[in-house]
Amino acid sequence: MPFYCQQCGECCTEMGYVHVIKAACGNQEYLIRNEYTGEVTRSRVADRMLYRFQDRSIFDRWPHACPFFRYDDAERKGYCTVYPTWPEICLEYRCWRLLILDARGRRAGRVMTGTYLACEDDILRTIWEYHIRDLDVDDRDAWTRKVIRILQRFGYTVVW
Ligand code: SF4
Ligand code: SF4
Repeated sequence: MPFYCQQCGECCTEMGYVHVIKAACGNQEYLIRNEYTGEVTRSRVADRMLYRFQDRSIFDRWPHACPFFRYDDAERKGYCTVYPTWPEICLEYRCWRLLILDARGRRAGRVMTGTYLACEDDILRTIWEYHIRDLDVDDRDAWTRKVIRILQRFGYTVVW
């Protein structure tokens, strides 16, 4: 299965270091400068996201969030208010290559580039430490297949 974003918002909560609004152009459009590359692009706040965009309370919690990021506490979901006109860096961003779901279908962890585990589940962390972390398999696909088999044995589902 190809990558899909679960809207946890983790990646966007620090992106204020990258995306900086340089100018408002009217009609909900903004010039955004990428502080790392210097590239300036234009994005527009989507009409259906305007009410979220106008609420700036998330910056009390995440002062370095991307200026276009908003979080819905009731839904426990992050929203990109310019999603139809994403800057390219966001379009290409993929935060996992393996997504690990627990028996209830909730995210337990993600394997990022290579073999690094980002984990929200103590049991998974322990399984990883004892059964996976020191696996001696050079080939990445073989490693992935082996990891999936091990995790399935413990009741997890792996999406990749
Ligand atoms: S790309 Fe990944 S980290 Fe960012 S919101 Fe989506 S699931 Fe979360
Ligand atoms: S533009 Fe959207 S996807 Fe990109 S960092 Fe900001 S909130 Fe996240």
